[in-house]
Amino acid sequence: MTSVLASILFVAWLRALHCYPVESSFFNNVNSTDNSKVRGEAPAVWDLIEKANRNLEQIPGGPLIKYGDIAVSDELGNADPCTSRGCLWPKSESGVVTVPFVISRDFSSRERGLIESALGSIQTYTCVQFTPRKNQRDYISIESRAGCFSFVGRRGGRQVLSLQRGGCVYVGTAQHEIIHALGFNHEQTRSDRDDHVTILLENVVRGAGSPRVETAPRVNNTNNLGTPYDYNSVMHYGRYAFSRNREPTIVPKPDPNVAIGRATQMDRLDVERINRLYQCCKNSTSALLQKIANWNISP
Ligand SMILES: [Zn+2]
Repeated sequence: MTSVLASILFVAWLRALHCYPVESSFFNNVNSTDNSKVRGEAPAVWDLIEKANRNLEQIPGGPLIKYGDIAVSDELGNADPCTSRGCLWPKSESGVVTVPFVISRDFSSRERGLIESALGSIQTYTCVQFTPRKNQRDYISIESRAGCFSFVGRRGGRQVLSLQRGGCVYVGTAQHEIIHALGFNHEQTRSDRDDHVTILLENVVRGAGSPRVETAPRVNNTNNLGTPYDYNSVMHYGRYAFSRNREPTIVPKPDPNVAIGRATQMDRLDVERINRLYQCCKNSTSALLQKIANWNISP
């Protein structure tokens, strides 16, 4: 018992020094070139989402899906409700951000394990704690609907996060949709994206009613949290996202050959942005102790 307490205090001391340190081994998952598909490496998150959502139209009675995989309710004309409504998840005085969730019984135990791994990975490296819903009003309902999609941020009440079985249930894909639910848009919608990529709208698929028309609108005045633009973000689209003619739709600059949208899991900057958005370094030691006391998901 004494040794357990000593271990906890040691980790708390480390955390106080470094504030959610991330082991480098966690991030050895980003493909370095766009030839990864040819070499048979793990599929990139963006490839999985685009494939699963290829034929996605508005689901009867469901949310409208825009920008590839972002759900918007009909009453909102704004892709980023955070700006007008406030959409952060609540943070306790001890510094823990609590996100209640339920996982549909439609998932197999293996699929449930993958989803919990995604939740656990974010929980391990940030002050966010995912907790099984009891009676909280606002929560994420992880379900297998048509395609992979999520709302951006907390929108109040039950909000569906879809990971369609047979296409979306991977750790990286789940991380992508969960990070949307924490309040983030796609990396290439950052306000500074024109400094780092060129969007070739002439190559983007067209069509009335298509959820893919507005592939990559720039969101003005996004809070970039002082982090550099990140081609390897799990939130970045691929080079050929929603191409109508097999030509690139997003080209990095100044070097057009840099790999983009090849992440198989979140990277260090994805984690850093979550920690900055939720100001996780404040009270990080007390947050850690509270999380240890409430621990309910294995990382
Ligand atoms: Zn997305």
